[in-house]
Amino acid sequence: MAKNSSIEWTIHTANLWHGCTKVHEGCDNCYAAALSKRWGNDIWGNDKPRKQIVSFWDDLFKYQKAANAACEMHQVFVGSMMDIFEKPMPLIDHKGNTLKFTTGDLRQMFFNNISKGIYPNLMFLLLTKRPSNINKYIPDEWKKCPPENVMFGTSPVNQATANNLLGHLLEVKGKRFLSVEPQLDEITLIPWLQNKSIHWVIQGGESGHHKRKFDTDWARKLMAECHATDTPYFFKQIDKVQPIPTDLMVREFYKSPMINGSK
Ligand code: SF4
Repeated sequence: MAKNSSIEWTIHTANLWHGCTKVHEGCDNCYAAALSKRWGNDIWGNDKPRKQIVSFWDDLFKYQKAANAACEMHQVFVGSMMDIFEKPMPLIDHKGNTLKFTTGDLRQMFFNNISKGIYPNLMFLLLTKRPSNINKYIPDEWKKCPPENVMFGTSPVNQATANNLLGHLLEVKGKRFLSVEPQLDEITLIPWLQNKSIHWVIQGGESGHHKRKFDTDWARKLMAECHATDTPYFFKQIDKVQPIPTDLMVREFYKSPMINGSK
């Protein structure tokens, strides 16, 4: 199966639901909120329901089958239109009918399936702007030993959000990554990279009509920190319009462990 996501650092995206609430300045121009509004969905904010995406389960089945056939591990970003560690929220179906279960129930089903080993060839990238909720919502056994095919990530946008969000992310066991997007100011990650707390760094500037300034020297600094500490580094974009300078065209991935003979 071909890559189905337009996001450069993953092969697939999958969404259990659509909808979220903005939490910090990185959310100001959230593309998912804008897309949802354009599609006529009123699902953003603490007082709004989320919309269930039923194709999620079939999509994962297809992705697993294709990755297994290719004898590979394929990354799945969960999710591009939601935050997987948001507090449990009411749900509606595609017709707007209220459902009897919540986003918390869907998340539990998903995590149970991962625990059962149903997706051995998928590496789930669980990215959240709410890392303080991760230990609240993962299964108890994951708190001691998370599955090999899960990475927990968060998105700092400046030094203040890095200091805050990393403090919470580091309370979680297992593999951790950062998606430093949309970066709004200079950041250093040296303390966390030197002690090997972070296993993959993605970096990029904002795109779209309201994009905020990105300085390529911020990228050179972070790339140098990653290379000095042997941390895989992926530069995504300046703003999706300006070409990426040759020296910044670095796109390394976290190397998945072998699972069931796959790579
Ligand atoms: S957490 Fe992510 S999905 Fe939610 S509003 Fe912020 S940028 Fe958008």
